Amino acid sequence: MRRKLAAGNWKMHGLAADLAEAEALSKAHPAPRCEVLICPPATLLARLADTLSGGTVAVGGQDCHTAAKGAHTGDVSAVMLADAGATHVIVGHSERRADHAETDAAIAAKAASAHAAGLTAIICLGETEAQRDAGETLAVVAAQLAGSLPEGATAANTVIAYEPVWAIGTGRTPTIDQIAEVHTALRTHLRSALPAEGDGIRLLYGGSVKPANAAEIFAVADVDGALVGGASLKAADFGAIIAAL
Ligand code: PEP
Repeated sequence: MRRKLAAGNWKMHGLAADLAEAEALSKAHPAPRCEVLICPPATLLARLADTLSGGTVAVGGQDCHTAAKGAHTGDVSAVMLADAGATHVIVGHSERRADHAETDAAIAAKAASAHAAGLTAIICLGETEAQRDAGETLAVVAAQLAGSLPEGATAANTVIAYEPVWAIGTGRTPTIDQIAEVHTALRTHLRSALPAEGDGIRLLYGGSVKPANAAEIFAVADVDGALVGGASLKAADFGAIIAAL
């Protein structure tokens, strides 16, 4: 039985004053049915971990370097995220794939470094609108999955987030049938790539999840939760999504 996960990605949003939203969320959901995670910008991670300590909301990073330390100005390693109180890290978000030209191989290396630091890696993948229109969605996500999964991925240390690029921050979502088709295909690939673990690895959907559509999306077989951007910034919205899981 896979425990559902609601993961909030604050992206490049959040100042010290916004810690109050996370605190409010934690207080409003002292015993959520699902696992809850907030991934703030790196500047807030340690303070958020302190704010939420003793509660049930975990804290994660939004990216990590492939190395544990070194001459990489401006980067943050998985070891540093763990040291600051993170338990998870998002890798391969489409904004990073696009803004920083991250390849599947780089993402696999980041996920491996997350695992080495004891973090759970949330590996993101998803097709562009042009790829969907060209009928390439299943081939694209299969190739991304094969290329981004590191050696040693397990149900405990790896989560996959299917995030169609065209649905992120746009208010548009795939149909329920389209989400189901991709999640079923990803589950089949995971089972064949990792026979002992593939059934247990959680598959999140991400892309314009909000309180109004959460329950319908979460009812899809093989949707084990959500990666939520904009709607994770406000305790009331993210709380409503958590309650739908
Ligand atoms: C995301 O950033 O991963 C995301 C899914 O964003 P949004 O929920 O705003 O579409």
